[in-house]
Amino acid sequence: VTNDPRPATRNPQPATFESHLRTILGDAHVITDPDLKASYETDWTRRFSGSARAVVRPADAKQVAAVVRACAAEGIPIVPQGGNTGLVGGSIPRGGEVVLSLARLGAAEPVDTMAAQITIEAGVTVASLQNLARDAGLMYGVDLASRDSATVGGTIATNAGGLRVLRYGATRAQVIGIQAVLPNGEIIERMSGLTKDNTGYDLAGLLTGSEGTLGIVTRARLKLWNPPVARATALVALDSLSEAISLLGRVRGLASLDAIEAFFNDGMQLVCDHTGAPRPFPGVSGCYLVIECAAQSDPAEELASLLDGSPEVKAAAFATERPQREALWRYREAHTEAIGAAGVPHKLDVTLPLARMVEFEATVRAAVESATPGARAILFGHLGDGNLHVNVLGPADDDERADDAVLRLVASLGGSISAEHGIGVAKAPWLHLTRSPADIAAMRAIKAALDPQGIMNPGVIFGAQ
Ligand SMILES: Cc1cc2nc3c(=O)[nH]c(=O)nc-3n(C[C@H](O)[C@H](O)[C@H](O)COP(=O)(O)OP(=O)(O)OC[C@H]3O[C@@H](n4cnc5c(N)ncnc54)[C@H](O)[C@@H]3O)c2cc1C
Repeated sequence: VTNDPRPATRNPQPATFESHLRTILGDAHVITDPDLKASYETDWTRRFSGSARAVVRPADAKQVAAVVRACAAEGIPIVPQGGNTGLVGGSIPRGGEVVLSLARLGAAEPVDTMAAQITIEAGVTVASLQNLARDAGLMYGVDLASRDSATVGGTIATNAGGLRVLRYGATRAQVIGIQAVLPNGEIIERMSGLTKDNTGYDLAGLLTGSEGTLGIVTRARLKLWNPPVARATALVALDSLSEAISLLGRVRGLASLDAIEAFFNDGMQLVCDHTGAPRPFPGVSGCYLVIECAAQSDPAEELASLLDGSPEVKAAAFATERPQREALWRYREAHTEAIGAAGVPHKLDVTLPLARMVEFEATVRAAVESATPGARAILFGHLGDGNLHVNVLGPADDDERADDAVLRLVASLGGSISAEHGIGVAKAPWLHLTRSPADIAAMRAIKAALDPQGIMNPGVIFGAQ
């Protein structure tokens, strides 16, 4: 006997949003346990963290679309996540979002050797993509030190650059087609591999570099290249960045030039301390370059003779075999992890016109120290692209005075506040420094058209609304 006037029901518990997700994905792939969520909630630098409502791990584009529709129906925001190696806080929840991990989208079709293309899912790592291409006698044009974790989808979403932009372009130049889930759960797809296809707006190009704010990349058709037969790598010591830029002018003349990377003595010391590698040359130099040439015939002689005849070169180490070349690259590639081991950096990835780079390098360290006393800036970057990574160690995670000083300096010299890492949440407050009000209005109009509810990675690029 009861006085409850409500009718008896066979299902007294209303279905929760999480139980809906479990119906779509299965229990194992909806993570709400705080301990299990934790690794998805902090970024690579440890500077950014937040709490997700749930982490979901769909297996294919249809499941991604079903999750997006469920989130859209409830107005629940989504943070897409690939390898979580992004350096601007874009893959990390700010509080209460669903983190949608693409890690289980790991399939690839056989390489199309005739077209030199591959169709591959978003969760495949760049290193695996490189291996698939290599096994088919081809190569992928994008390479970066995070290759073992960074994913196809994440590199498309950030339009990642890396070590070989000079020769092969950034990720956008590799993308021939894309499959993606839009914020309303619709799937768009252009995967026929047509290299010429001028039929209206280039949606693949639009999604590339959109940092998860316009949709979720689930699959891509990517361009592959004929690999060079031989490589030669040099580590070069010079007195200054200005000497390095003068050398760059000549090295650019080599048709085989593949990469030219710069760093400085403070970074060299950090790397040697962190990795235990010996200092490569006696004494200290103001600037170091890793230069790599690659061609169908051995490029060693042309690189060696150019360096021999270059007055800027104080010392050089040279390698043609893979293990020795990798040992030289390690001085450059270990910078990110060595800096991370020294503290939690504010990472400012900027481009400058080559003509203003020396002025920037000469003033940026002092600008950082005067903005935040005790802070120091370690610089390295992709010299051929005018791209320097300014890593500020010392300030608290939320102390942005040094960030402000560096980004304003970049803008005053005609540069861009992001070269290849994107805007994320880290740089959103400064977007206006190097994009005009008309640019930002156009970008916001695109965002509003595709994502009127604002559920796709809110806070990224445009900041908190
Ligand atoms: C050691 C190290 C070296 C690095 N070197 C370089 C370098 O040389 N050049 C360079 O450009 N970057 C570099 N990075 C930064 C980073 O690796 C790149 O930004 C990379 O593209 C991120 O890929 P990810 O899969 O880890 O993406 P995540 O970090 O997971 O995500 C990055 C952004 O993309 C979005 N996103 C991820 N996957 C998808 C998807 N499938 N669909 C839609 N949106 C998505 C996220 O929401 C986020 O906004 C480096 C990072 C590290 C740690």
